[in-house]
Amino acid sequence: MGESRGAWYRVGGLLLIAAAVTILPSSPALAARAPAKNVIVLIADGCSHEQYTLARWFKGAPLALDGIRVGAVKTHSADSVIADSAPAASAFATGVRTSNTFVSVGPRDVTLSVVPRPDPELRYRPLATVLEGAKLLGKSTGIVATSRVSHATPAAYMAHVASRNREDDIMEQAVYQHVDVVFGGGKRHLLGKRDGGKRADGENLLDVLKERRYQVVETRDEMLRCKAGRIFGIFAMSHMEAEIDRQDCTPQQPTLEEMTRKAIEILSKNPRGFFLMVEASQVDWACHVNDPAHLLSDLFMYDRAVEVALDFARRDRKTLVLALSDHGTGGMTIGNRTTSATDSPITMEILLEPLKRMRVSAPALWNRVADDKTAEGVQRVVKDGWGIEISTEDAHRILAVAERDKDFPENGFGEVICPAYTAIGWTTHGHVGGDVPLHAFGPGRPAGLVDGPEIGKICAAALGLDLAKLTSRLFVEASNAFAKGGRVFLDQTDGHNPLVKVEFKGKAAELPVNKNLIKVGGVASEVEGVVVYAPDTGKIYLPLQAVQMIKGTVKGMPDITLPAAAKVVRSRAPVKESALPAGASP
Ligand SMILES: [Zn+2]
Repeated sequence: MGESRGAWYRVGGLLLIAAAVTILPSSPALAARAPAKNVIVLIADGCSHEQYTLARWFKGAPLALDGIRVGAVKTHSADSVIADSAPAASAFATGVRTSNTFVSVGPRDVTLSVVPRPDPELRYRPLATVLEGAKLLGKSTGIVATSRVSHATPAAYMAHVASRNREDDIMEQAVYQHVDVVFGGGKRHLLGKRDGGKRADGENLLDVLKERRYQVVETRDEMLRCKAGRIFGIFAMSHMEAEIDRQDCTPQQPTLEEMTRKAIEILSKNPRGFFLMVEASQVDWACHVNDPAHLLSDLFMYDRAVEVALDFARRDRKTLVLALSDHGTGGMTIGNRTTSATDSPITMEILLEPLKRMRVSAPALWNRVADDKTAEGVQRVVKDGWGIEISTEDAHRILAVAERDKDFPENGFGEVICPAYTAIGWTTHGHVGGDVPLHAFGPGRPAGLVDGPEIGKICAAALGLDLAKLTSRLFVEASNAFAKGGRVFLDQTDGHNPLVKVEFKGKAAELPVNKNLIKVGGVASEVEGVVVYAPDTGKIYLPLQAVQMIKGTVKGMPDITLPAAAKVVRSRAPVKESALPAGASP
């Protein structure tokens, strides 16, 4: 463990840390320019057209989403026609297309032929998000997910790293971002190993949250008792439970609907408005595993969360609601090789009866097989948990898949059972590249076919935010800023807690990476954004406010709002970035 335990920026550090001062644009002026006061983005991770159709059949009634379907979203990333959640959510959060696994930083140098190579300045560069912008407009901000809150999609709104797997760094940035409401899993990335967590730097970020006056809650009941203020709801060491298993396994965890309702209740107390991102994270995992039971339970819960948001927006009338997916997963279809082998009509009973008997998720099924990994054991567990009598041969095939996919032994249930005993088809255990449905309601809502990065611009425009100006205000490249008369270097004495050191005209400053803290001339204070180090380029990015504090220039912060007349230009025009051969279209 590094010797920085007693450092000024650690909990219990010696120096009192002064709060950041941010001059807010006047509300009336902003309200005049921004069509919306609030923006709520609800992401059903990995969900595509067929999944919604199946949910509607299963529900036997329209989904809340059906009433606000407005178009579709193109999902490819900068370097792949099939995106993962990190670049997809980063495009929604920053308005910029980036590389697979990248979290709200500029793309690497290799791109699809239809995507222009990024300027060197843009590569790996942190890109400001609509959440960070909403905060600087004096709005409240919130993140809700059923995954770890350090996982790809929620991370894209709160953090800036070139790999979605750096969850310790992501969680640290999230904790120092002053997000007002955070609900989800991931306690293991708040605690060091000695406190039962996974953090390599040994930091106890739970103590940091308490020191920053967050109410830290860990159960549904504690969350429901919260009435106002800053709340960090951490309901699991890792991911939260699948909705279908939650009642049996972890009834103390809140549902996505409950978390969404509580977040809106708290955030809407702010007269300047709010930004909220809600993710149904596990629709994606259900589809990775080809598990229709897990899929339907989490998708229904998502639809109920959308209903909560729409109820608020219909009453509030100044709220933009976007409900969309980041990419498709599993290639699910209603219809498969069994249904294509017959001419007889596929009735609702054929489609729904097998699904109605499924009472647990595939991972829960596999846990039950644990002590009897035989064909008989599998048959017994599938009969009990999914209500389906499968052949011995199919049971052996399920065990064979478990051998093949060691990390996801439960993959066999959906892969073997769906094509043989249901009308559901799956083409892959991975993501797919098709456009995904777009749903929208309220002021500034889009329509038609929208490109991923445009979602970010549409959210920003709805709030009157200029993301490019915001990025220049929050992420100044340090060596450039102090090129004349200064020196910037990274002190990695404590490898897990790198410290940016700046010397400028006899003044020295320290800024820990991933935090919003600065010490200049022995005075410690907060600044309005987090410090980001990009190891791939060796570059360091500081908030302009920190640069000015070090230089002693108090010019005030640049305006981050859109000029009055600005409107988002919808890409119905020829695609600018296209270097396409004649006749081709992305
Ligand atoms: Zn996925």
